[in-house]
Amino acid sequence: MKVSVIGASGRVGKAVSFCLAEESVVSKIVLLSREKSLDKIQGETLDMNDALAAKDIRVSITPSANFEDMADSKIVIIAAGVPRTPEMTRMDLAVPNAKIVAKYAKLVAKYAPESIILVITNPVDVMTYIAHKASGFPRNRVIGLGNHLDSLRLKNIFAKKFNIHVSEIHTRIIGEHGNHMVLLLSSTSIGGIMFKDFSQYQSFDIDGIIEKVKNAGSYVINKKGATEYGPAYAVSNIVKTILNDEKRILTLTTYLDGEIYGTSDVCLGVPVKLGKNGVERIIKVNMSDDELESFKIAAEYVKTSTDEIIAMIKEEIDFN
Ligand code: NAP
Repeated sequence: MKVSVIGASGRVGKAVSFCLAEESVVSKIVLLSREKSLDKIQGETLDMNDALAAKDIRVSITPSANFEDMADSKIVIIAAGVPRTPEMTRMDLAVPNAKIVAKYAKLVAKYAPESIILVITNPVDVMTYIAHKASGFPRNRVIGLGNHLDSLRLKNIFAKKFNIHVSEIHTRIIGEHGNHMVLLLSSTSIGGIMFKDFSQYQSFDIDGIIEKVKNAGSYVINKKGATEYGPAYAVSNIVKTILNDEKRILTLTTYLDGEIYGTSDVCLGVPVKLGKNGVERIIKVNMSDDELESFKIAAEYVKTSTDEIIAMIKEEIDFN
């Protein structure tokens, strides 16, 4: 099956592409970039092919600056955009990135009209909304990576803290992929046992853990300039789930229309059933009073930010 990656010369774009090349369900990958980065993605392709030969993997990788080449892709990944520096919030990127994402979402609608769009560009919740409106795709076919990566980071923290294998931890971050993320402690389980039944629950430093997850991306950016492997493997999970029609429940950014406590006309991270049609169902989660309060704050913040950003650039990103 064919997957295209837009912004493939970037650090996330190339890591995602290489990670997908190793997945047997993916047979063709198109690396798309602007003309000025074509040399770079040609070089990346040659280097990837050498690595894949070492692993006896046969996959077709095509570098291209011609966006028509995304035709017939099952999934198109948008990773193009300005990245943040350690002192920036993801929301600081919104105005330049909204223009980039809107432009590419329209090209996806033109050349790969049956595809599923997976947005990586930050601030991802706002960008998913922009991609949904600009492409005109039904909401099940426009999703964003954010809280799935946050949830993987949280799993790691639990696994280390309690010295338990990471596969035993079932926990989620929902809401915004940013400062308003919400840890769903009330539905966290370890080895099938609800975390609230563990003796450690009462003394659990939830605020400290949330701070750690919130700052996890900035911490990496501070040290090495960008996050790469984390987003790449998180994207690979999402792509495999869709292409294999696995019906896994992952926490992805999706357009809400009242399913979660009446929240509507905003894109936020929530648990969804994911399969070959993209989002096949939004899973309504029971939240504690505190969690619900935080989720409502996240929804309000992202919705207001989305409206403000669209108002600032609406002449340039004509949604029709
Ligand atoms: P990067 O290395 O700077 O690459 C970004 C790529 O975007 C560039 O290589 C370029 O691709 C494209 N681009 C940049 N400016 C552009 C413009 N004006 N018009 C069109 N394309 C442009 O950045 P990165 O570290 O890969 O990060 C990419 C995005 O992913 C950022 O917004 C970052 O915040 C986000 N991100 C999100 C998550 C998540 O969990 N959602 C995780 C990590 C990063 P071409 O030259 O190939 O066209």
